Amino acid sequence: MALIVRTVRRDIAPSELGPCDAHEHLFLVTPLQPGDDFTDLGAAVREAETLAAAGARALVDWTPIGLGRDLDGLRAVAEATGLHIVAATGLHRDAHYPADDPLRGASLAELADRFAADLERCGIVKLGASYHVVTAFEAKAFAAAALAHERVGAPVCVHTEHGTIGLQIVERLTGEGVPPTSVVLAHVDRNPDAGEHAETAATGAWLQLDGPGRTKYWPDSTILALIEELAGRGYADRLLIGGDTGRRSMMRAYGGGPGLDYVFARFKPRLERELGQELAEQIFVTNPARAFAFEPRG
Ligand SMILES: [Zn+2]
Repeated sequence: MALIVRTVRRDIAPSELGPCDAHEHLFLVTPLQPGDDFTDLGAAVREAETLAAAGARALVDWTPIGLGRDLDGLRAVAEATGLHIVAATGLHRDAHYPADDPLRGASLAELADRFAADLERCGIVKLGASYHVVTAFEAKAFAAAALAHERVGAPVCVHTEHGTIGLQIVERLTGEGVPPTSVVLAHVDRNPDAGEHAETAATGAWLQLDGPGRTKYWPDSTILALIEELAGRGYADRLLIGGDTGRRSMMRAYGGGPGLDYVFARFKPRLERELGQELAEQIFVTNPARAFAFEPRG
């Protein structure tokens, strides 16, 4: 069997993926962001069109089970825009699910079955960890994701809270049978500490930086400096970049900003200018085609 990237429309060869926004959300509903939900298909198409116009050919949508995920909607956006869209199964971190959410009562085996079944249409398994800890609910999802990975082969993509415990997350998954090269850690730029993340990258895991445009927290220059330092330490081949436009108020189609295209329209050209075309090509094209590719089993 050959390596593929599993998109909502069809499996594609990794070389077909093209310039990729490694972390987005086109539909999302969560009690953690009251008033910031977005569920409208027309708005999702309009936002995705701006990303395609800015040069992206692909995006990975990280909205997991129970948070407004819309697999038919993602397929419709892919058909309307021509973008390759990779969807997620799996669960987010603990705090996104209310105390009475039925997902909390699901057994490990039930979660693993659900994740594996979803992977007929989805191309990644999403997980979430909390700030410096993995809760019991999250630990169950980790174990279920490892079982689903074993059955299907898809990469396991983990939300880190403020970029914490990356190494611990990789070690937990490795202990459950997921190789580090099948693990993507999101939001590492929330903790812009190259030394910390270099230790994680040395395992072979992927580091995803996905905070461009969050100007009230930190400037884009902080992310560029982190990329430069990680590349200087020899980890250019472990880096991914996404926009993570995960709020209604960040979408122009809903009257907000900076918009889904920010990462391609503004951040990528700056990366090319300041750190070079070759590094940008590696991070936006070469690396995603490896990180999100797998050889389907079963
Ligand atoms: Zn996200």
